[in-house]
Amino acid sequence: MTRVLILGCTGSIGVQALDVIDACDDLELAGLACGTRSAEMRAEAVRRGVRHTCAADGGGSVPHTPDLATLIDETAPDVVLNAIVGSAGLRPTVAALERGVRVALANKETLVAGGEVVSRVRARTGAGLVPVDSEHSALFQLLEGRDAATVRRIVLTASGGPFRGRDRASLSGVGPADALRHPTWDMGAKITIDSATLMNKGLEVIEAHHLFGAAYDDIEVVVHPQSTVHGLVRLVDGSVLAHMGPPDMRVPIGYALRHPAPPPPRDPVELVGMGLTFEAPDTAAFRCLDLAVAAGRAGGLAPAVLNAANEVAVARFLAGDIGFLDIADVVERALEDVPDGPGDELEAVMAADAAGRERAAAPAGGVRA
Ligand code: MG
Repeated sequence: MTRVLILGCTGSIGVQALDVIDACDDLELAGLACGTRSAEMRAEAVRRGVRHTCAADGGGSVPHTPDLATLIDETAPDVVLNAIVGSAGLRPTVAALERGVRVALANKETLVAGGEVVSRVRARTGAGLVPVDSEHSALFQLLEGRDAATVRRIVLTASGGPFRGRDRASLSGVGPADALRHPTWDMGAKITIDSATLMNKGLEVIEAHHLFGAAYDDIEVVVHPQSTVHGLVRLVDGSVLAHMGPPDMRVPIGYALRHPAPPPPRDPVELVGMGLTFEAPDTAAFRCLDLAVAAGRAGGLAPAVLNAANEVAVARFLAGDIGFLDIADVVERALEDVPDGPGDELEAVMAADAAGRERAAAPAGGVRA
């Protein structure tokens, strides 16, 4: 029996993880944590007889999210599924890994902001980390057990989001409702906007760099609108391995929770009559992809600033405060002032995160010094 603690249980991934646990006899729910929807979480906890809960708004059995470490101690899970949105997920990831508890990571911001922190803790405790992000789950499965000398490059696929094919000029007037209409994936608001700007793929490049130890030159992005091929691995002999599956997050969730056991069988992908296409991303219309990769290459605290600024910019876009194209501008401006120092110390990363948030919250032209 694998006991699972779910952080972010009321979000899209959290709810689908509960589905996966219901469907698998060898998975058991150990505890629940959420951000603000604590009434929903409490109802779920009562229904499932779960005693240990934690909510950021104080509505759980453990009072506040800084005490997620306490929740981990109380529940003693085999695996923590981290489905928190944003860099708020970094501390609990580190708390679990420090205790030697395996993490199923659906919080990509953890690795974007604190990839080096995570590597250092894992090197010390040996705790496992399995990605839940669909592309990384695919690459993880393709690379597992493979001799690294046979691998030339890894390729992340992107759906292209709702605005694929549109030029920059046509994007100036799009609003939150347009951007939230994702063609293939049903996800939470933050990641859906990130998907529309291609920032999501930029964050995923940084995530892949840390997860697989791949150099940025060895990570490629292709747009694949059908969202059927989730990852590709180019081998040195010229062949390419592909991982295919339905666009359903329960597949990577199930894999991450049960790893190293095989995932439960799923409906096969409908391949007959399906045209699979691949095209280069339009980085002129969607500037966030290049901004993210540049921050990843710069290293240090730049990815933490990028991620924090993006979180604020997306919130401002959703609130109607800035336009769609302004998201990249806000992030770019925040990156003009990155604190010096290495990126492998948790408190320095959180301070850079706070600085990035402050710059991104400032009105254009009036960035506070
Ligand atoms: Mg993804």
